[in-house]
Amino acid sequence: MSDNKEVITCPACGNYMQKIFMPEAGVNIDICLDGCGGILFDNREFQKFDEPHEKIDEILAAIKDKTFIKVDENEIRTCPLCKVPMVKMGAGSAGVQIDVCNVCGAKFLDNGELQKIRTNGEEEDSDRLDSLMNSLYSDNLKNVLGNIQVPSKTSSRRKFFEDLVYKLIIK
Ligand SMILES: [Zn+2]
Ligand SMILES: [Zn+2]
Repeated sequence: MSDNKEVITCPACGNYMQKIFMPEAGVNIDICLDGCGGILFDNREFQKFDEPHEKIDEILAAIKDKTFIKVDENEIRTCPLCKVPMVKMGAGSAGVQIDVCNVCGAKFLDNGELQKIRTNGEEEDSDRLDSLMNSLYSDNLKNVLGNIQVPSKTSSRRKFFEDLVYKLIIK
């Protein structure tokens, strides 16, 4: 199933969800703007938004300055599309649990979870970059250049290498 058209009720709080069109990804997502702030992604939609470089401006604009009701995140949710119980699954490495429907692939994220998953991905990248840079400098360059100091994070030479490594190896 992709991009449901019907108005659906929030699996966490039962309020009607509102559709927001995400122009970059070309899909509609459902947000619980009048209730808990949860977001429902249809099958395959979530992967268009879980990386830090993917745009979620429309989501952020929609939830800005809103206060959402608190919901019990441990409760078993029911998929609003298939009416079957959703399964809790870890997403990213931030310890975030999302609800997944094993029938249609829909994913429900509580308010704030999407941001956590995305930020964590960013930190992970920068951690990987850090250890990669350190091993590049301290292991390889040391052999060639002798005992050199790893340039500080703000040095422009290091920045140049980091950008290069990031573009060529990580991305
Ligand atoms: Zn809700
Ligand atoms: Zn479903």
